[in-house]
Amino acid sequence: MKEAKSETVAGLKQKVQGRVVMPDDREYNEVRQIWNAMIDKKPAVIVQCANAKDAQMALRYAKENELDLSIRGAGHNIAGNSLCDGGLVVDFIRMNKVRVDAGKKKAYVEPGATLGDVDKACQASGLALPVGINSTTGIAGLTLGGGFGWLSRKYGMTIDSLTSVDMITAEGEAVHASSSENSDLFWAVRGGGGNFGIVTQFEFDLHNIGTEVFAGLLVFPYAQAKQVLAHYRDYILSTPVEFNAWVVMRKAPPLPFLAEDVHGQDVLVAAICYFGGAEEGEKLVAPMRTFGDPMGEHIGMAPYTAWQQAFDPLLTPGFRNYWKSHNFTELHDGLFSAMIDYAGKMPSPHCEIFIGVVAGKTNEVPADATAFSSRDMKFVMNVHGRWEAAADDDKCIGWSREFFKASAPYASGGAYVNFMTEEEASRVKAAYGVNYERLAQLKAKYDPLNTFRMNQNIKP
Ligand SMILES: Cc1cc2nc3c(=O)[nH]c(=O)nc-3n(C[C@H](O)[C@H](O)[C@H](O)COP(=O)(O)OP(=O)(O)OC[C@H]3O[C@@H](n4cnc5c(N)ncnc54)[C@H](O)[C@@H]3O)c2cc1C
Repeated sequence: MKEAKSETVAGLKQKVQGRVVMPDDREYNEVRQIWNAMIDKKPAVIVQCANAKDAQMALRYAKENELDLSIRGAGHNIAGNSLCDGGLVVDFIRMNKVRVDAGKKKAYVEPGATLGDVDKACQASGLALPVGINSTTGIAGLTLGGGFGWLSRKYGMTIDSLTSVDMITAEGEAVHASSSENSDLFWAVRGGGGNFGIVTQFEFDLHNIGTEVFAGLLVFPYAQAKQVLAHYRDYILSTPVEFNAWVVMRKAPPLPFLAEDVHGQDVLVAAICYFGGAEEGEKLVAPMRTFGDPMGEHIGMAPYTAWQQAFDPLLTPGFRNYWKSHNFTELHDGLFSAMIDYAGKMPSPHCEIFIGVVAGKTNEVPADATAFSSRDMKFVMNVHGRWEAAADDDKCIGWSREFFKASAPYASGGAYVNFMTEEEASRVKAAYGVNYERLAQLKAKYDPLNTFRMNQNIKP
């Protein structure tokens, strides 16, 4: 790997409209921060693009100077692949515009937009895109890996609403990819991560959901977790796809609707979200209250954009994070035992284990229709190892790994690239399953030199 030379960087600065940040710039340390505070990479040059042309220039510069290249959307990726040590970062932080055509129910989204940017623009017309549950996550990384959230049971993965992308290939060529133009590339980007090029614009179909949602939290004691989880399993797949309940095991945050002595206790939280109004929502939640003896709840109609930010306070940047995840087609008793065991010995008050339900539209798409192949997954589990001090790294990483291992026998064997850590290269094949061979062939066609390798890498 070579270093960026100052005389050639001066040339780059002249060519781009955005900002070029170098290690001796005052803002360098701030600019190289990403969501996961464990990542401490020091790029040689960061190009904060103002437009697609800047990204093209940055790519050309990296190739001419034989620099590693990484691409940053909103920098949420847990593995920290949006940065590279000693290389060049194509940074989209300044390109976060979202244009909505309400008549056509379309959104045109720049790659630095967060989910919050997308939600806000779409909700001005009561429209929405199925995206994740934390508003500061980036639309780019989320979409390229698949993307799921509260609207996925009804409308599928984020990629299932993607209709085209503008991108820059490894050759530096600006291309448009859709089902009718460069269709193989369009297939590959729908799940293939950042392996195939630099996306400079996403075009999505939007869905009419109105501006309010019936949502909230129902909290049960940890001691009742076994019975609540068993009832949850029996119930959730019988509910309509507009209804979502995700279960989270963690220490109770200081929520105002919980008694003070519950704060900090181990609890099981059901996070509810229903797209069908209060009356029907209430009927769907009612049976869940009998799963155990709830310690408190806060459920009702809320603005969708507010619900989309409800978990932001628990997911702020600046913490150390190590995640592990599994997909499930069914929830086994053995999984529940492992969850209860490991939730009872969380190494930090910020750790959590969640199971999200995605069963519905996501399962109706054939496994080979997009690069994302885990179309059999009905549930996704994420083990959030999350803590503050580097001194706790071993303890917290160890807990996540051990639980991941203990729950593996009950998982479907697939994997979600967006939840994978840096060390999980061996799982990339499993993540793409039946599509891996075709992806490797397309990688050889579009990026034979593996220019785009700072990702869950598909080898050409
Ligand atoms: C708090 C939190 C909550 C989350 N919740 C959800 C959730 O509910 N649902 C869900 O599906 N996922 C969720 N995720 C995972 C999320 O989808 C990934 O972390 C995703 O990579 C974030 O995208 P980003 O643009 O912020 O990431 P970045 O770190 O900026 O980018 C990640 C990778 O994407 C690629 N990439 C980014 N931009 C481009 C581009 N313009 N062109 C080509 N490649 C690009 C690159 O390979 C890059 O390394 C969550 C993550 C966090 C941290």
